[in-house]
Amino acid sequence: MHINFNLPKKILGWYDNNKRNLPWRVGKNSSKKLYYRLLSEFMLQQTQVNTVIPYFKKFTKKFKTLKSLSKCNEKKILKMWEGLGYYRRARNLLASSKILVNKYNLNLPKTIQEIKKLPGVGEYTANALLGLVHNQPVIAIDGNVKRVFSRILNKNENKIDFDQFIESNKKRLFNLKRNSDFVEALMEFGALICKPKDPKCKVCNLNNVCKYFNSSNKIKTTKNKMIKKKYYDVFCYINKKKQIALTKKNNLGFLNQFSLPEIREAKNNIRTRDWKFLKRYKNSISNKKLNINLYYKFSNKLPESFTWHSIEKNKEFIPSFTKKIFNQVSTLF
Ligand code: SF4
Repeated sequence: MHINFNLPKKILGWYDNNKRNLPWRVGKNSSKKLYYRLLSEFMLQQTQVNTVIPYFKKFTKKFKTLKSLSKCNEKKILKMWEGLGYYRRARNLLASSKILVNKYNLNLPKTIQEIKKLPGVGEYTANALLGLVHNQPVIAIDGNVKRVFSRILNKNENKIDFDQFIESNKKRLFNLKRNSDFVEALMEFGALICKPKDPKCKVCNLNNVCKYFNSSNKIKTTKNKMIKKKYYDVFCYINKKKQIALTKKNNLGFLNQFSLPEIREAKNNIRTRDWKFLKRYKNSISNKKLNINLYYKFSNKLPESFTWHSIEKNKEFIPSFTKKIFNQVSTLF
């Protein structure tokens, strides 16, 4: 699978005239490059650009440098991250910043293997950072970039070995000084022009070479996101002081180490008989749609490994999942 035209030239030609003004796009020689790229790449994992911008600005206003961020405590970072979701990213960001400060003296390692050892940095983020920060000839392959290549070739994504495709086209893809811009331009092109639905083919400067555009037998590229539906029973011990018992020990596979009531998958759970039913509602977390059955019981006895948390005043970080439970339970008083 070869491309026989100068893709970087076309994509960069479009990018130079159409790129968005995003706050993490700083000059090649900026001392903020590593910090801004690391922060934005963590925030952009699973999250839209427009949602990320205010959080990015809030963080960079509070922490002027990567070093100052690395010295912050986890509670504060989580509090600032509140609402952005996928909280594991906040923890990993903090852990990665500490390693970059203490082990690498505020420099990004030079190899993919080393970058991937940073907490929360997988193949995609490692390639993005290597390209964006060190201007290395790499392509960060995410859904956007896969779609662009797959449409240019008019081949289904699952029929393309992307690593092999990049390897066999590397002379055409990387024979330029602007590898860093190309990494970003490809993502931007996928987000703004070669969009999942209704690609803007008529104004696309690749339409004369794009096989998708020129084919009468176009591939289908819009995928339905797999959403997993799950059913959970949530059990709240409530005391007379308007406090709920929460624990950081759970085996749910999500929201690990966050303060939650007792939660169990709703599989023939006979325990619900001893509890009063309060409400049934839906709550989305990551790619899961949770159907919650909320139960409560007034009790002053605290279960092991639980602590009391005030429904009304809470200084510590509470995930929005638990806050919703607080809101439901507060209707009892
Ligand atoms: S012509 Fe259409 S499908 Fe082809 S790259 Fe451009 S926007 Fe994508």
